[in-house]
Amino acid sequence: KVVCVTGASGFIASWIVKFLLQRGYTVRATVRNPYDEKKVQHLLKLEGAKERLQLFKADLLDEGSFDFAVKGCDGVFHTASPFYHNVKDPQAELIDPAVKGTLNVLKSCVKSPSVKRVVLTSSIAAIAYNERPKTPQVVVDETWFSDPEYCRNLKKWYVLSKTLAEEAAWKFAKENNLDLVSLNPAMVVGPLLQADLNTSCAAVLNLIDGSETFPNKSYGWINVKDVANAHIQAYEIPSASGRYCLVESVTHYSQIVMILRELYPTFQISEKCVDDKPYESTFQVSKEKIKSLGIEYIPLKISLWETVESLKEKKLVHF
Ligand code: NDP
Repeated sequence: KVVCVTGASGFIASWIVKFLLQRGYTVRATVRNPYDEKKVQHLLKLEGAKERLQLFKADLLDEGSFDFAVKGCDGVFHTASPFYHNVKDPQAELIDPAVKGTLNVLKSCVKSPSVKRVVLTSSIAAIAYNERPKTPQVVVDETWFSDPEYCRNLKKWYVLSKTLAEEAAWKFAKENNLDLVSLNPAMVVGPLLQADLNTSCAAVLNLIDGSETFPNKSYGWINVKDVANAHIQAYEIPSASGRYCLVESVTHYSQIVMILRELYPTFQISEKCVDDKPYESTFQVSKEKIKSLGIEYIPLKISLWETVESLKEKKLVHF
């Protein structure tokens, strides 16, 4: 079968491509610049790539850009979306590529009758950011939706971009009778295949290689291999539908730092919290629905170890 993965050079997408090739798929991988060696080298080296990987040039902001890559595909994995926080113009840098880009990809899918299902890489960002209180007893699940107003007020632009993109995707899918499934992971960590550092792994690197303080935040964490597998299961299992939260555990940075100290006692790891406020509360994220995709989560401690080992191997750790 032929499938398309958008933003294939990215952290999560690279693992999706790797697993798809392992399973025998022919993969059409869209990237912004197929001639940028640093971005595509790791993909071309994957097992099966020589025979079954094809690179396509496509940009989220170019109308019709994905038509060619998607045409004739059985399934499409739409992962491309900018993920960084340091933005000058949130509309142009994050929101437009996320929302217009998603619609752009979905429009290409509708034009190709061969496409049976689209798997969207959404985020917990589209689920958990609203006024509802979060305490260790609260269980966030797939029925939750982030509130765009809440995100705007807090200037959480990346979160807003993912919230609006998923919202637009469901609306479009409904209007166009498109079979859409979304995966909603939290902070994704684990081994990097790509050469460049991505935002969620940078958060771990920062704790061991630079920052004296750790953020006063409690985030959900999940291994990239579980995220990639979940995408493929969501595509292959006919009964998969709707959204799927992907969180192994919600853990405050103070705990992450403790785990890292245990794993790497000789490292200089961030010692104090960035502020004196009480630690941001943890909460729970339901693991019920994801069970139906047969995913058994890799424990956080292993995921953190895999992340650091990979950062070391890629010489992204500077000491
Ligand atoms: P990466 O930064 O590694 O990947 C992002 C990808 O999006 C890159 O391939 C990038 O291409 C592509 N992209 C960005 N802008 C454009 C554009 N204008 N046109 C075409 N492609 C573009 O991040 P991740 O792998 O972490 O993220 C992948 C997806 O997963 C995103 O949708 C993100 O929101 C989502 N996600 C990530 C989480 C995480 O913790 N990592 C958590 C939850 C969701 P290029 O290489 O050319 O820059």
